[in-house]
Amino acid sequence: MDATTINKKEEEEEEEEEEEEEEKGYVHIYTGNGKGKTTAAFGLAVRALMAEKKVFIGQFVKSMKYHETKLESLMEGQLCIKQYGNGCFIYKNEPTADDKNMAIDGLADCERILSLSGSGSGGYDMVILDELTIALRYKLLEITDVVRVIRERNPKIEVVVTGRDAPEELIAIGDVVTEMKSIKHYYKEQGVLARDGIER
Ligand code: ATP
Ligand code: MG
Repeated sequence: MDATTINKKEEEEEEEEEEEEEEKGYVHIYTGNGKGKTTAAFGLAVRALMAEKKVFIGQFVKSMKYHETKLESLMEGQLCIKQYGNGCFIYKNEPTADDKNMAIDGLADCERILSLSGSGSGGYDMVILDELTIALRYKLLEITDVVRVIRERNPKIEVVVTGRDAPEELIAIGDVVTEMKSIKHYYKEQGVLARDGIER
C-alpha cells in the first residue's frame, strides 16, 4: 500500500467513527424538587419531533390526561405516549399490587421499545421515561432492572428520565444530569393549585 492509499483508509475510518459518534444516543436525567422536569422533557420531545425524529414517551405512575398528551394526536405516527399508572397513588401511603404490576408491565414495554432498531424500521430515536424515579422511590421497580434496561438498549436511542430523587445508580449512568432546585413554588407560599396549561 502506498502512502496515499494509507491516508485515504485512515480518513475513511475517521469518518466512520465520526458517523458512529453522531448516531450515539445519550442518557439525560432531570431530577430535583423544583418545577420543570416533565415540561423540560416534553420540550426536548418537541425539539426532536421538529427535527424529524420519532419519540416515545412512557409515563410511570401517572394516569391523568395532561394537556401535553394531546400532542400525540397532532404528531400521529411520529409520537407515541403511553401511561403505566393507576391514578395518583403517591398520595396514599401504600402502593397496591396493581400499582406495582402496572409499573413492571410498563418497564417491560419500554424495554421492548428500547431494543428496537432505528426510526426507519419502526423504532424510536428518543425514549422519555417520565416519573420513572417515582416508581423506584415507591419500590414498584428494582433499580438493577431499570439500569439494565437503559444500558442494554439500542445505543442509538436518546433516553430521558424524569422525576424527583433520582438514585445514585441512575445518576451514574446519566450523561446529562440536571437538578431542578425549588427556590419558591407558589403552591407552597401562596397555595396556588395546579392550573390548566401550566401544571397540567
Ligand atoms: P412540571 O410537570 O410542571 O414540569 P415537574 O415534572 O418538575 O413539574 P413533579 O415532581 O413531577 O414536577 O411534580 C408534580 C407536580 O407538582 C407538578 O404539577 C409540578 O408543577 C408540581 N411541583 C413541582 N415542583 C413543586 C414544588 N417545589 N412544590 C410544589 N409543587 C411542585
Ligand atoms: Mg414531573
